[in-house]
Amino acid sequence: MTSGKINVTVENIFPLIKKFLYSDHEIFLRELISNATDATLKLKHLTTIGETDVEYGNPIIEVKIDKENKKLHIIDQGLGMTKEEVEKYINQVAFSGAEEFLEKYKDSAKDSGIIGHFGLGFYSAFMVADKVEIFTKSYKGEAAAHWTCDGSPEYTLEACDKADRGTEIVLHIAEDSLEFLEESKIRELLVKYNKFMPVAIKFGTHEEGEGDDKVEVDTIINNPTPAWTKQPSELSDEDYKNFYRELYPTQFEEPLFHIHLNVDYPFNLTGILYFPKLSADLSMQKDKIQLYQNQVFVTDNVEGIVPDFLTMLKGVIDSPDIPLNVSRSYLQADGNVKKISNYITRKVADKLKSLFNENREDFESKWNDIKVVLEYGMLSEEKFYEKATSFALYPTVDGKYYTLEELKEATKDVQTDKDGNLVILYASNKDAQHSYITAAQNKGYQVVLLDSPIVSHLIQKLESENEKMTFTRVDADHINNLIKKEEDTISRLSEDEQKSLQEIVENLVPKDKYTVKLEAMDSADEPFILTQPEFMRRMKEMSQSSGGG
Ligand code: ADP
Ligand code: MG
Repeated sequence: MTSGKINVTVENIFPLIKKFLYSDHEIFLRELISNATDATLKLKHLTTIGETDVEYGNPIIEVKIDKENKKLHIIDQGLGMTKEEVEKYINQVAFSGAEEFLEKYKDSAKDSGIIGHFGLGFYSAFMVADKVEIFTKSYKGEAAAHWTCDGSPEYTLEACDKADRGTEIVLHIAEDSLEFLEESKIRELLVKYNKFMPVAIKFGTHEEGEGDDKVEVDTIINNPTPAWTKQPSELSDEDYKNFYRELYPTQFEEPLFHIHLNVDYPFNLTGILYFPKLSADLSMQKDKIQLYQNQVFVTDNVEGIVPDFLTMLKGVIDSPDIPLNVSRSYLQADGNVKKISNYITRKVADKLKSLFNENREDFESKWNDIKVVLEYGMLSEEKFYEKATSFALYPTVDGKYYTLEELKEATKDVQTDKDGNLVILYASNKDAQHSYITAAQNKGYQVVLLDSPIVSHLIQKLESENEKMTFTRVDADHINNLIKKEEDTISRLSEDEQKSLQEIVENLVPKDKYTVKLEAMDSADEPFILTQPEFMRRMKEMSQSSGGG
């Protein structure tokens, strides 16, 4: 038996680990399972390249609770470690990483929320355990080793008689962490962090079959080959929908469509994004895009990685090139992150374009569900705006869907004002503006329905991007300035009648708000209409909707 002092200059590192990592102490399980997975995948690699002839078989990782003895076991059938390797990897390397971490962040670490992955992976076990044991047997066939450490810099290392290849980590759970002996807690963590990890993870058993055929089988909590790790050509629409359900078991709405991300240069990224049906109450959108790294869950805060306007999407992104300790300031400082965000914007735009091209009718039917996201994107990302001009739709009140170019084409002969500007008429509320819509339609005008909350900003953007084109709400006064067909202007009242009616109405309505103009209407119920200056209304709307932002 050897015993010794762990190679570290800080006298006792464990209180520091506990303190700095405390906010997220549950990640210890993710770390230990990541190590077990690495050990398994390393062995797989060694067998495939022929470096060893050991039987790889069908290795699994097992997580076992021993509540009585307050122990948690993580067992793998990976490549294991020799005694020398325990000395090297456990006693030295991890600690030099820890030292570096503490050196680098000694001033900022306290409040930064930075966790793990600075060589602290294995040692995160001490956040929940007051004693950790390693039993390990290398694939090389040497005697097995047993390492023990009780959280002080002292450790012991001796030979033991473990028969099977691989490593067993035993955590003696500390009194303040007894929740990690609860089956429900461990299952919750396994589902959260390890649901899609590449090596099968067993947690308990269950019965399958009926009567005499009843058998006890391992409960495997993960899917080692989730959809995003496959090629799009291997997957059907149904597979994508199934994966959506796998990802969000409590979500019953089907997604509208998916986007499979797959790039390996200049950064590595795979994933599947879904356009959901947005529920009216946006605060109900609790299922978010999840970020993974090599199939290990990292976070569902993808701010910065996914452009703002797409954070309503759902799905997964997996990239080894995103710095793991996702804290916002870290992300913004990283050049890769902006590249990734731009890539995602481009992919989403390309997908929308191809949906539009391949099946326009279907795209039109989805427009109402996706328009808010896309309009927001057009306002916030210039690159997206440019691409969106080819597929952004402007539906008319009677159900036709035009692109802007098509709309221009359909209106250019009838909807110009005396200065030669194209005037696009729109309604923001079909019911409230019903009479105005009818009046405009009777004159042969197209009225588009723009009713999303950010429409006033979108209109401004479109006007600034398109010369000689203005938007006018259908109840605005200067509709009457449009060049219109002769027969529409014929009034059924005599001039005297018109004059006295004009006076009566003018006395009834506030002058600063409405311009009174009498016009013949087709409907007998609506002998005249009142209009409001477009300019005044817009000013009021903009000041209401911008509200400081
Ligand atoms: P990292 O995983 O980033 O290398 P860790 O502190 O998590 O850092 O682990 C340190 C090292 O200990 C690993 O690189 C590996 O060599 C070794 N190790 C840890 N757990 C196992 C295991 N279950 N099987 C084999 N080796 C392991
Ligand atoms: Mg590790």
